[in-house]
Amino acid sequence: MQGLMMHRDLRIIDILTFAAEAFPDQGLISVRDEGDLHRTTYPETLARVARLAHALRGLGLGVGDRVATLAWNGYRHFELYYGVSGIGAVCHTVNPRLPAEQMRYILDHAGDRALFVDLSLIGLVEALRDDLPVGLQVVVMTDRTHMPDTAIDALCYEDLLADEPEAIDWPEFPEETAAGLCYTSGTTGHPKGALYSHRSTVLHALMVVAGHPQSLAVGRHALPVVPLFHVNAWGMPYTAPLAGMTMVMPGRHLDGASLYDLMQTEQVYTAWGVPTVWAGLQAEIEKRGAPPAGFEDLVVGGAAAPRAMIAAFEEMGIKVNQAWGMTEMSPIGTRGLLPAALKDATFDEQVDAKMGAGRRLFGVEFKIVDDDGTVLPHDGETTGELYVRGNTVVSAYYGNDTATAAAFDAEGWFGTGDVATVGPDGRLIIRDRSKDLVKSGGEWISSIDLENHATAHPGIRACAVIAVPHPKWDERPVLVAVPAGEARPTLEDIHGFMADHFAKWQLPDDIVFVDELPLTATGKVSKLTLRKQFADYVLPEFREGSA
Ligand code: ADP
Repeated sequence: MQGLMMHRDLRIIDILTFAAEAFPDQGLISVRDEGDLHRTTYPETLARVARLAHALRGLGLGVGDRVATLAWNGYRHFELYYGVSGIGAVCHTVNPRLPAEQMRYILDHAGDRALFVDLSLIGLVEALRDDLPVGLQVVVMTDRTHMPDTAIDALCYEDLLADEPEAIDWPEFPEETAAGLCYTSGTTGHPKGALYSHRSTVLHALMVVAGHPQSLAVGRHALPVVPLFHVNAWGMPYTAPLAGMTMVMPGRHLDGASLYDLMQTEQVYTAWGVPTVWAGLQAEIEKRGAPPAGFEDLVVGGAAAPRAMIAAFEEMGIKVNQAWGMTEMSPIGTRGLLPAALKDATFDEQVDAKMGAGRRLFGVEFKIVDDDGTVLPHDGETTGELYVRGNTVVSAYYGNDTATAAAFDAEGWFGTGDVATVGPDGRLIIRDRSKDLVKSGGEWISSIDLENHATAHPGIRACAVIAVPHPKWDERPVLVAVPAGEARPTLEDIHGFMADHFAKWQLPDDIVFVDELPLTATGKVSKLTLRKQFADYVLPEFREGSA
């Protein structure tokens, strides 16, 4: 027997039409490439999105067409999210930090028909000029006054919108229709495309609003430092309007001082981003002596947050919420423990608990398996590869059968490549990425664990552990560190500092100081680049003159 309820296909545009009605005084505050701060409400934004939709159709774009963006976090980028998907086309966000070769590959692979580019990024398009897909229409996201003098045949965004009507009958289409396309940063091989649908995107927004109540609340200001080109800024352009929040868009300046100033003047309540960004803000807060006024909630994800960082923000009175997820999961899969779950815990116990990835969101299922695919218990101790499934998880990669064949098990679960434990209480702890684990004498050493403890040493500002080959043990860990000041701790200092937490054989064989750690296009520490940089590295015991 079937239920007797209506079926309305889920559409992304309905989030914005809802926000414009329900929260007419909320909207967007954006740092613009033109140099000023721009404020707009959701009703004003909806009117501009309608104009954009007409303009897109005027360019001959419609259902299924891919429209690329190359832009920072700003209101025009937000408009494209809704305008492009609103007419049934696919908003393909391209990461401007990618090497030119990967950018070319992605534009070509996606078959983009138009490319909307920020004023400050037009140089990237000029560099690709001879390799752009044939017939790709470039639009510069600015007004006539600021249009750059460029050899590229480009249109002006505000000119396109100027004479279009402020209303539109949004078309209906099946909710499985593709709406967004985001390529993973391609740490191995070519980048792989996750193709989100209206259904997966709306469900993800609902799941995150329900799952992150401490961060999302009507009338508050939310700042995505995570870029709109990185998995839809973790869905914030959908969750913020749905939850009745104003989004503060930081544009292209993401250093600690710029973020601090913006957060202070715009009263940002919650800010979301990867740990490397928060290291910059943390240093700025320590310099100025107090956090930005009104800043209470920090969502960190994309890589494991070091314990010392969590403790530092918590000490300032800022609640840290660690979320875990992946591009292939839209991306959010978990939420850090809620304050109620930690109310009887000491400060140290709270910080320890927040180092885990928290509990799953409704709609995301976990299973951990061993190398043979045998399902392992959720006992908090047994470690295995984490597999996931749910309505917000990819079912295939876009146009990539080889990658698709490798990513799923026989039952259709998606393999995350993360090594994890799941507790009987559902708490997920990511031990490492499988390719970052150090395999020493048949035993695994977690690089994340070592990094966490080493970063707590006052002489170390940031660090990464990589595996280097060893003839007897297969691999040994080496600590690559950025010093916090002039004095550099010795390997003996570090061993002494970490001795309580690790067996002797788990401690790093060497410490190497660098000025900075290489970052990926999404702002995380790039272990791949580090491994390449250390290709000729020799462990101390094999150096000439060593005993
Ligand atoms: P990439 O880093 O390859 O660009 P993603 O942004 O999709 O791609 O990264 C997903 C991966 O990031 C996860 O598989 C996991 O290894 C790591 N990650 C994300 N959040 C966390 C977290 N809170 N703790 C530890 N690792 C995390």
